[in-house]
Amino acid sequence: MNITTNIKRNILAPICYGLVGNSVLKQKKYEKYLINFEYCERDKVINYQTKKLKELFIHSYKNIPYYRTLFGKLHLDPYKHDSIKILKQLPYLTKDIISADLKLFKLNNYNRCDLRATSGTSGRSLQFYWDRKDEYKHYASDQRFYHYAGYERGVVNAYFWGHAEDFKRARKIKGKVKNFIDNILYFNSYMINEDVMYDYYRKLSNYKEYIIYGFPSSIYFFVKFLFKNNFILYKPITVLTTAEKLYKYQRELIEKYFNCKVFSLYGCQEIGTLGSECECHNGFHLDETHHIFEIEKINSLGQKKGRLVVTSLINYAMPFIRYILDDIGELCSGMCSCGRTSLKLINLEGRVTDFIVDEEENLINFGFFTDIFEFSKGIDKFKIYQKQKGKIDILIVKNMHFDQTELDYILNRIKDLSGDRLNIKYKFVDYIKTSNSGKHQPVKSEIASKYI
Ligand SMILES: [Zn+2]
Repeated sequence: MNITTNIKRNILAPICYGLVGNSVLKQKKYEKYLINFEYCERDKVINYQTKKLKELFIHSYKNIPYYRTLFGKLHLDPYKHDSIKILKQLPYLTKDIISADLKLFKLNNYNRCDLRATSGTSGRSLQFYWDRKDEYKHYASDQRFYHYAGYERGVVNAYFWGHAEDFKRARKIKGKVKNFIDNILYFNSYMINEDVMYDYYRKLSNYKEYIIYGFPSSIYFFVKFLFKNNFILYKPITVLTTAEKLYKYQRELIEKYFNCKVFSLYGCQEIGTLGSECECHNGFHLDETHHIFEIEKINSLGQKKGRLVVTSLINYAMPFIRYILDDIGELCSGMCSCGRTSLKLINLEGRVTDFIVDEEENLINFGFFTDIFEFSKGIDKFKIYQKQKGKIDILIVKNMHFDQTELDYILNRIKDLSGDRLNIKYKFVDYIKTSNSGKHQPVKSEIASKYI
């Protein structure tokens, strides 16, 4: 560890975090507690969650207008009734319900919270309140997951990110101090192109010890650029991806170039980091100290698969109870090969908008398309867009190796494998815009949610 990192981590960070009531000592102590929790027997986890849920229900019943009305309507008494049974009787909470009247969800006369908004990658941005009271818990939880990958805060962090709200926060004094102490180098993934990537390459080539963090699509395009130009960087400690599904082909290329393992994190802006891959890389260990997880089953996707539903036990400023996410996957219990007993999210299939609907209303997962395009040498980027069932438009950015016969082969393969139930149109473009948050979503359907 170099001297600058040492000073920032061991002197400046404890002082600055302490000044804003987020003591580093408290974070570290709490992290140990979280780690122990990951190896607990199931009945202890359930007992803990039941107790915390009761506290959350009583708080919500007393102080949050939406839940006071809901509990009354359903004749539920959080003081008397079993909290897990109550949970199962509550309706799912959706973005639409929250957006209809946000003030019904906020704790009155409470100022230790921020009004934030999600990036709206899934089509809808959501405003929500973030509770700052227990910020150390979020820090400790994130750090625990970072440790899976060998990342300790303070090491140079090449941060491939794009969410405009986060950039705004980073430009304020508090954000600047935080980024200085945590050694964050912001690489704006919203504006990524060859000139920008060359600049990123030059900046990163100054560092021998660093990690890479951020959107897998941006990191993948950066690595492709490095490969193409035979640019060499020092091996990073690790690569952590988040905020998007990490595709198999992205993982393979990134690991090949950097010669290190990629760890995927899972979370959402409104609740925080929910889980991470361990060294076994076969699903996400979920944070059960702070959240309760369920699956809203979707029969068309099989017995166990469905949308992930989360109840946050720590945001008292705006309780999220049975909040439904757009991500589709399965929950898996039992001990992992790493020894942890925490619940895992497996077979994450991406978001509802990542599915394409064919002529007969079958759902086709995005992986189907990315697997087919993966081996193309002449296509730099593609985006599949759907507005009507059975029809897709493909935008293609080609490069100097492009060969029409290769594209014809890809299109025929899509037709064959989909049973000729997709009408395909394509066009060449110079550039594919990322979303407002800087993410690249290779498959996007405007209609899939109607069929799931
Ligand atoms: Zn594990």
